[in-house]
Amino acid sequence: MGKITNIGILTSGGDSPGMNAAIRAVVRAGIYHGFKVFGIRHGYNGMIYNQIKELKSHDVANTIQRGGTFLKTARSKEFMTPEGMEIAYNNLKLNKIDALVIIGGDGSFRGALEFSNKYDIPCIGIPGTIDNDIFGTDDTIGYDTAINTVIEAVDKIRDTASSHERLFFIEVMGRDAGFIALRAGIACGAEAILIPEVETPIETLKEHLENGFKRKKSSNIILVAEGEKAGGAFEIAKAVEKDFKDYSVRVTVLGHIQRGGSPSAYDRFLASRLGVAAVEALMEDQRSIMVGTQNQQVVYVPFSKSVKAHKPIDPKLLELIEILNV
Ligand code: ATP
Repeated sequence: MGKITNIGILTSGGDSPGMNAAIRAVVRAGIYHGFKVFGIRHGYNGMIYNQIKELKSHDVANTIQRGGTFLKTARSKEFMTPEGMEIAYNNLKLNKIDALVIIGGDGSFRGALEFSNKYDIPCIGIPGTIDNDIFGTDDTIGYDTAINTVIEAVDKIRDTASSHERLFFIEVMGRDAGFIALRAGIACGAEAILIPEVETPIETLKEHLENGFKRKKSSNIILVAEGEKAGGAFEIAKAVEKDFKDYSVRVTVLGHIQRGGSPSAYDRFLASRLGVAAVEALMEDQRSIMVGTQNQQVVYVPFSKSVKAHKPIDPKLLELIEILNV
């Protein structure tokens, strides 16, 4: 591998609030350390279709507070083929790009790992996804903002739920992981959470609700991660409803509002820190790693680990929900 002079940066997979702050940090840290930084639009597709343009410091002005990603993002089927990867590599060479920073989820890192195994391009990943489901980092960029969005919505639903004495099932994002439901559930005082990692028999849930009714709770909020095995909030509500005829049951699916919005202070801070760390990792000749944080410290985690290992749910946090609903 020769000396790096030009760094390419892209956002890939699902967008998350704070991606812009991370792009800004990579651009500015790159320039600070004497590199040129090139923005690649539409994820890996931008490498295939040569949508590559140099970014100067002023190009990232006024972006730290904006949600989404100004580079746009995409899922690229073509990049998953050897032909697509070869075109992508040739376009990087054409633009004299000799290193890549990829902001995205574990799928995007899997792509980066394959690419850097095949071609001599060091790749550094920055974890950007609202799901927080990437092994090796305590937090991912966008997770904190998404949770804040969820609790704001749930607080509003709680007002109407308690006025009408209703039982609400609120579906939040998390196809494969319950991190949003878990932390937001604790933060908004949910009566229960249902997540893909833990099987909750419907009878257990009914017993739990029964106890709540006996204690004359005026409202019940159950957060359901979309990947919950019983089939999502509507299915679970249907199964519960027939045994609680006196109680009116409602379902709300929060959907894509969880992806948007101005990033929280924490996500801006994390994105800024990891963006700078990604450039420093390249200067230290790192390749095929993700920069993340563990116990407040920046860490380097090999892609081979971050894409394979499963990030576990802390069982202590599940217990917390139970304790707080005594
Ligand atoms: P999110 O967690 O928000 O869904 P993600 O990064 O996991 O984000 P994916 O759709 O899984 O999102 O992956 C993003 C892109 O990464 C894919 O569309 C594809 O272009 C690329 N990619 C994923 N896996 C591979 C692979 N094995 N080989 C090449 N490219 C891949």
